[in-house]
Amino acid sequence: MRKQAGEKKYELLSHLENKIDRIFDELIKVRNSIAIKLGHDSFVELGYARLSRVGYGQSKVEEFRELILKYIVPISEKTRDKQRIRLGLDKLAFYDEDIRFSTGNPSPGGDVKFMVSKFEEILNEISLEAGEFFNSLSVNHLIDLLPKEGKARGAYATYLCNEKTPYIFANMNGTRKDIKLLSHEFGHAWQMYLYNQHNNIPEYILPTKEACEIHSISMEFLVWPYLEKIFGVDADKYRHAHLEDALYSMPYRAAIDEFQHFIYKNPSLSISERKEQWIEIEYKYMPYKGEYNHAYLMRGSYWQQQTHMFTTPFYYIDYALAQMCALQIWSNAQTNESMAWEAYMKLCNLGGSKSFLQLLDQSGINSPFIEQGFTLITDKIEKWLDLNENKINNDSHLTSSRPLFQ
Ligand SMILES: [Zn+2]
Repeated sequence: MRKQAGEKKYELLSHLENKIDRIFDELIKVRNSIAIKLGHDSFVELGYARLSRVGYGQSKVEEFRELILKYIVPISEKTRDKQRIRLGLDKLAFYDEDIRFSTGNPSPGGDVKFMVSKFEEILNEISLEAGEFFNSLSVNHLIDLLPKEGKARGAYATYLCNEKTPYIFANMNGTRKDIKLLSHEFGHAWQMYLYNQHNNIPEYILPTKEACEIHSISMEFLVWPYLEKIFGVDADKYRHAHLEDALYSMPYRAAIDEFQHFIYKNPSLSISERKEQWIEIEYKYMPYKGEYNHAYLMRGSYWQQQTHMFTTPFYYIDYALAQMCALQIWSNAQTNESMAWEAYMKLCNLGGSKSFLQLLDQSGINSPFIEQGFTLITDKIEKWLDLNENKINNDSHLTSSRPLFQ
C-alpha cells in the first residue's frame, strides 16, 4: 500500500517536473540579475542580506554544514539501520522511511479535538499562563487547526499587528505529526505573546528566523514529559520517532543549503547539471537514504518538493541552526526540566531585541557553530535512543496500533 502511495506521488511530480524545472531556472536568472544590479557578486550575498543575518556569514554556515557531516550524518546512518532491522527489511525503500516500528507508528489516542484538549492540559501542567493563553486563542477564534475545502495548505503562526495578538494556522490530520506541529506553532505564538506583555517597540517582537525557530522547536521537546496523555503506551515510540526526525532533518537541511549555494554561485549552469550536483550532495549528506528506486528521484529531483527553494532562499538552514539550540534545551530538560524552561523563557522574553548570537549568549545557550556542542549533543542523543530502543523492545507486548485508554 505505502509502495503504491509513494509511487503515485512521484508519478504525479514526474508530470510536473519539467514545468517546475523551467520556473526555477527563470527564478535563478531573475534573482541573479537583481543581485548583480545591486552590486553583489552573486545572489548568495543578497539572500543572506534579505534574511538580516548578523554576526555570521557564509563561511560560518559552511563550517556548520561540515559539523553536521562529521557528527550528525554518522549517527543518522546508524539510526536508519536500526530502523531497517526493527522492520525486518534487507533494505529501506523510499516509501519505508516514515514507518518506524514493526508494531506501527505511534498513534494518538483520539481525534484532533481530543489532541487539542489534551494539549491544553499539558500546557497547564507546564505553565498555567501558557494554558490560559492557549485557551484564549481558542475562545477568540485565533487558532484554525482543521483542514477544510478550499483552505490553504501548510502551518504557521503569525502576529496580527492591529489586534496585537498571535494567530495560529494549521491543517491537522490525526497522525503523530499533529503534536509536533501544534507544539511547534504554539511555541512561536507563545513567544510573540510573551514579548508583547512588555513590548514598546513593535519591530522587536520577532528576532531573525533562526532564533524564531528555537522558540518553536524547543516547545516540541518541552511537552515530552506529558505525552502519555495523548499517546498512552505509544508515548515512548512518539519520542523516539521525534528524535529520529530531528536527526534526519539536519543533513537534509544542510544538503538543501549547500545545493542553493552551488546554484546561485553558478547561475549559468543547465538544469541537468544542477540535478547532477543535487545527486552528489544528497549522497554526501544522506548516504543512508532509502533505496531510490523511483525514476523521478534518481533524476535528482527530490529538492523540487522543498518550497523554501522557491519562496525564501537560504532560509532552510535556519531550522538546523535552531534545531541544535533546541536540542540543548531538550538535553538540559532531561536532567532539570525547570532550568530548561527558564532558559527557554529568557530567550522568548528577549524577543528580537538582540542578534541571534547575542540572544543565545544571554539565554545561556551555546552557539550552534561550536564543535563541542555537537559532540555533547550527539552523544546524548545516541545514548537516549539506545536506552529507549531497549525499552520499546521490552515493552512491545504493551504496544498496540491504538493506545489503550480508560
Ligand atoms: Zn517554525
